[in-house]
Amino acid sequence: MASKTAICGRLLDFTADPAEVGADASYRYIPNGAIVIEDGKIASIGPATDLPAGMPVDDYGQALIMPGLIDTHIHYPQTRVIASYGAQLLEWLDKYTFVEEQKFADPDHAASVARFFFDELLRNGTTTAAVYCTVHPESVEAFFTESDRLNTLMIAGKVMMDRNAPEALTDTAAQSAADSADLIAKWHGRGRQNYAVTPRFAVTSSEAQLEAAGALLRDNPGVYMQTHLAENHAEIAAVREQFPWSRSYTDIYDRFGLLGPRAIFGHGIHLSDEEIARLSETNSTVAFCPTSNLFIGSGLFDMARLRNGGVKVGLATDVGGGTSFSMLRTAAEAYKVLQLNNQNLPALQAFHMMTRGNAGVLGLADRIGTLEPGSDADITVLNASATPAMAHRMETVDGDLEEELFVLMTLGDDRSTVATYVAGERLYGAGKT
Ligand SMILES: [Zn+2]
Repeated sequence: MASKTAICGRLLDFTADPAEVGADASYRYIPNGAIVIEDGKIASIGPATDLPAGMPVDDYGQALIMPGLIDTHIHYPQTRVIASYGAQLLEWLDKYTFVEEQKFADPDHAASVARFFFDELLRNGTTTAAVYCTVHPESVEAFFTESDRLNTLMIAGKVMMDRNAPEALTDTAAQSAADSADLIAKWHGRGRQNYAVTPRFAVTSSEAQLEAAGALLRDNPGVYMQTHLAENHAEIAAVREQFPWSRSYTDIYDRFGLLGPRAIFGHGIHLSDEEIARLSETNSTVAFCPTSNLFIGSGLFDMARLRNGGVKVGLATDVGGGTSFSMLRTAAEAYKVLQLNNQNLPALQAFHMMTRGNAGVLGLADRIGTLEPGSDADITVLNASATPAMAHRMETVDGDLEEELFVLMTLGDDRSTVATYVAGERLYGAGKT
């Protein structure tokens, strides 16, 4: 029989979306709680006083124990593109990103950056992400090899790009289809790995390549699709010129069969009502990337408009256009973007998005994103008093959970992560006993 272990502290997870059921009915909170883990899964949760004597315990005292955080859009080859000065999207790609991504033809470089990337996610409490690799199959091999070693649940794919990029970064429609098919056969469904067909965006793909992407999705049910959509005005103008027959940017992807419940579109800032209706009808997801949208100057995401239009919205860092690996920092910037749109983001809704919400848009809510018994034991332990300024602020928070969460998302970052568990194994932080 497999041995059981336990993690103790203040347990918090969500059972419903606070935007739909109201704050009080949305979450489960056990102040002196314990999670029992067996075979990488959550066996049970309940009061710590119910634990049998002798079970090994990591006791985190007053820290908050939540499901691992989930990032719905990030680029692992851009860990050295982050914080690149002074450009909007198309220039930023040419000047910084396309230079850095060329290095991933070298498997050793790809492996070393993949190791850094996973270390960084785990020290930020992130346990699952939807990840862009580069055009090189080697970059995908390196990524999934590291993810499989760590046993993290990841979604990733080879970027497909056959025009409007340096020659060293372009494939062809046929080559991208063959490479993607090989990578799907090898990695999709292996352990906890999931493949995403990944045309970078319409600007860098020919019609033949978008057609090939659609065929990959039809031939491989269950794989994801990720791309960028309506991020920046110059990008949208370029797309209109390249696809003169299209009704809209979304229409191009639609025409090639790329919309659907497993499709994740980064940004979606500048969309027409017709595009929003189509994204909703197809049950597609838009990833809201606030730090990136502010940093690259793309615009202010209108979350209420998309949600009211029935579109699933995920929250994402978009490193390296985004400026932080931390989902807490990302939530803080999401709050500010929505403030500028006269909308708000209550702390419970933000933490729902980072956990159960993002799991739900990825179709993974039965496996990750909650502390429900039977789900995978991907867990993060967070401290809202991690820095002197946070501890000082927390002195005025008299046991109010929502206020504590708001302090955590507004002031927190990687320093707030006490520990991160992946499938029941502690991969970051110390086990306090
Ligand atoms: Zn992106």
